[in-house]
Amino acid sequence: MSHYDLILIGAGHAHLGVLRRWARLERPPGRIALLSAGHEAWYSGMLPGLLAGRHVAADCRIELAPLCRAAKVELIIGEAEALSAMQRQVQLSDGRGLNAEWLSLNVGARVACPPQQGAGMQVLAVKPFADFLSGWQNWQADPQPLAILGGGAAGVELALALANQVPQLALFCRGPLLAGHSAGLRLRALGHLHQRRVRVREDCPISRIDGDCLISGAAPVWRGPRLLLASGAQALPWLAQSGLDCDAAGFVQIATTLQSHTHPHIFAVGDCASLPGTRKSGVYSVRQAPVLAANLNAVLRGLPLRAYRPQRQSLALLATGDGGALLSWHDYSAGGQLFGRWKDYLDRGFIQRHRLSG
Ligand SMILES: Cc1cc2nc3c(=O)[nH]c(=O)nc-3n(C[C@H](O)[C@H](O)[C@H](O)COP(=O)(O)OP(=O)(O)OC[C@H]3O[C@@H](n4cnc5c(N)ncnc54)[C@H](O)[C@@H]3O)c2cc1C
Repeated sequence: MSHYDLILIGAGHAHLGVLRRWARLERPPGRIALLSAGHEAWYSGMLPGLLAGRHVAADCRIELAPLCRAAKVELIIGEAEALSAMQRQVQLSDGRGLNAEWLSLNVGARVACPPQQGAGMQVLAVKPFADFLSGWQNWQADPQPLAILGGGAAGVELALALANQVPQLALFCRGPLLAGHSAGLRLRALGHLHQRRVRVREDCPISRIDGDCLISGAAPVWRGPRLLLASGAQALPWLAQSGLDCDAAGFVQIATTLQSHTHPHIFAVGDCASLPGTRKSGVYSVRQAPVLAANLNAVLRGLPLRAYRPQRQSLALLATGDGGALLSWHDYSAGGQLFGRWKDYLDRGFIQRHRLSG
C-alpha cells in the first residue's frame, strides 16, 4: 500500500484548477498525487462543438502529465473502485491500494439508465466522455434513428449538435424542456430544435427499455435502434458505501470548507458533492477550485480554512450546433452567432489556462 500526504481523486474541473494554481504558485509540502481514470481530462463544455464538427478532439482535452509535472504532483492512472473513509484507503480496480492523510474527491457523476429488457436497443451514455466518443464514432459510421434521454442543457446541446447527422432524432424530457431555466431560453431552444426537425417529448419520463421500444409509464413512446443517455447526474455507488455521510441520492455531504461533514480529512467538490446552493454543473466546480486549493494548502501547513460561498446565479451558454449559442442569465435570454463566438473564446481560454508544461 503506497502512502501519501494528499491524494486528489479524479481530474474534475476543481482539481484541474488546484493543479494550475500549484503549478504557478508554491504548492503545499508533502507527497501529493492525482489519481485519474485516464491520461486526459475532457472538457464537457466543448463536447457538443466536437460532435458538431466545430472542434477537433485535441482542442477539447487537457493532458494531465505536463500539468502534474508543473505542479510537482505524481500522476497515478487508475480507477478508484472503493474507499474506506475511516482508514482513508482507496482501492483501485487493478488491485492496487493507496492511502493518505488527506483525500480530495472530484470524480463527477454518471448518467442514469432506465432498466433494459433484451438487447433490441443499443445504449450509449454521454459519460465517461472517452468511452462515449469512441462509441459515437462507431454509430457515426452507420447513421440510424436516435433518441436522446435528458431535457437539460446537455441533452439540448447534444440534440442540436447531432440533428443533422442522423435520419431521425427524438429528445425525451422527464418534465419540461430546460426546467429551471427562463421561459425565454426554453422558447428559443424549442425553436432551434423544431427547425432541425428534432421531435421533443416533454413530461415524458422513460421508465424502461423493452427490446427496441422506450416505455413511459405503461405506454410505448418510441421505437428505434439507438439511445443516448444524457439525463441527470447519478452518484458513483462507491461513495455511499465508503462510510462518508451522503445525501439521499448518494452524493457526499460537505460543509462550506468543502470537507465531508463526518470525515473532515476528506474533501469533496463538483458533481460528486452535495452542498445547499450549488448545482451539478461545471461552473460550480470551477468556482470551488480557489477555495479548495487554499484549504488543502491550509490543512497541510496547519493554517485556518476558508469558506466557499456558491454564486446565486450562473451564466449559461448553450451551443446551438451551428456556431451560435443561447445565453441565459437570471430571467434574460438571447441567442445568435456572437454568443457562439463568446462561448468559444471562454471554452478555449479554459483549455489554454490548463495547458502547462513542467
Ligand atoms: C454534453 C455536456 C455538456 C455540458 N456542458 C456544460 C457547460 O457548458 N457548462 C457547465 O457548467 N457544465 C456543463 N456540463 C456539465 C458538466 O459536464 C459537469 O457538471 C461537470 O463536468 C462536473 O464537473 P466535476 O468537476 O464534478 O467532474 P468532471 O468534470 O465530471 O470530472 C470527473 C473526473 O473524475 C474522473 N473519475 C470518475 N470516476 C473516477 C474513478 N472512479 N477513479 C478515478 N477517476 C475517476 C473522470 O475520469 C473525470 O476526469 C455538460 C455536461 C455534458 C454531458
